Amino acid sequence: MRVAKRIESLPPYLFASLDRKLAAKRAEGVDVISLGVGDPDMPTPEHVVEAMRDAVADPATHRYPSYYGSIEFRSAVAAWYGRRFGVELDPETEVMALIGSKEGIGHVAFAYVDPGDEALVPDPGYPVYAASARLAGGTAVSLPATADRGFVPDLSQAAVSERTKTMWLGFPANPTAAVADLTTLEEAVAFSRAHDVRLLHDAAYCEITFDGYVAPSVLQVPGAKDVALEFGSTSKSYNMTGWRIGWAVGSAEAIEALGVVKTNLDSGQFTAVQRAAIAALEGPQDHLDELRAIYQRRRDLVVGTLNELGWSLKPPLGSCYVWAPVPEGETSVRFADRLLDDVGVFVAPGNGYGDLGEGYVRFSLTVPDDRLSEAMERIGKALS
Ligand SMILES: *Cc1c(COP(=O)(O)O)cnc(C)c1O
Repeated sequence: MRVAKRIESLPPYLFASLDRKLAAKRAEGVDVISLGVGDPDMPTPEHVVEAMRDAVADPATHRYPSYYGSIEFRSAVAAWYGRRFGVELDPETEVMALIGSKEGIGHVAFAYVDPGDEALVPDPGYPVYAASARLAGGTAVSLPATADRGFVPDLSQAAVSERTKTMWLGFPANPTAAVADLTTLEEAVAFSRAHDVRLLHDAAYCEITFDGYVAPSVLQVPGAKDVALEFGSTSKSYNMTGWRIGWAVGSAEAIEALGVVKTNLDSGQFTAVQRAAIAALEGPQDHLDELRAIYQRRRDLVVGTLNELGWSLKPPLGSCYVWAPVPEGETSVRFADRLLDDVGVFVAPGNGYGDLGEGYVRFSLTVPDDRLSEAMERIGKALS
């Protein structure tokens, strides 16, 4: 039996085949160190786990959750936006709970992209932006994010057309670790307004920043709510990737459009998980300084080692990745394969993030310090 064309037309997910390669190496008995996935290695803060324990024991959480998220959760997100960004949100209409931000990032395409429509997606960028546009019957149009501009797309060169319905941006960026200042986001809002395009901003890494850099919210731009929807989650800032909780924030109209998709497809996130996320957002935030210090130390180790080996990388100001060009004459996959075959270190080949990711690899910093040190030592031996 044939599957739907939308499934056939999706490019094969590169990381699925890489997973097989990795599993095969491990089966051979190789002690592989994977710097491939971006999944925090540290545990969720204890007070969040505690809140979950209490919430699970409360029968009030055992029934279907509210579709849009509990008012307590939405109020906690709104209050956090107020404290963190000085942005005012109406928890009733301008905040929606997501089953992890990836869920909303995927589903929002069904709210804005019709068959034949176009979505501008950073290239290289998080693969879900393009995949969701394609699943909705649209086309993902490359928004080049090149090294000469610190991997921030040049919107004056964007291939915008009558059919462009959405534009994705995400800062700090995965995989390039690009960061934006408020001016960049102001330009994106102005561009989106001028072209009547919904601006979708992924703020998953807004708390993972270094060297004093503070990431802005797109909603800090005056009038941004009219055109922008922002996605966030506790995954990276509270080591909660497994819990599956996030949010979308923006105008009531945009939240309602996403809500029509979601209420027809899912029944919201477990109320106990929402309570845990409230504990994360409203509890002590001191773990954040520690988290940033750990990633910063690891970033310096990776960048330092690569620069000693002949690279000339600038330490990135956000995310938990180092994005690096491969040596002259190699491809992303060849270089990644070489590191895996020669020294058992797995890095993500950049071409998995878009055509313009070819020629790069991504090092994830979500690996315990001792393993990361060993990985960089091995890379040093392989390349020197
Ligand atoms: C990790 C990540 C997210 C967060 O996903 P969740 O579904 O909230 O866990 C969103 N966007 C990008 C680019 C990411 O790397």
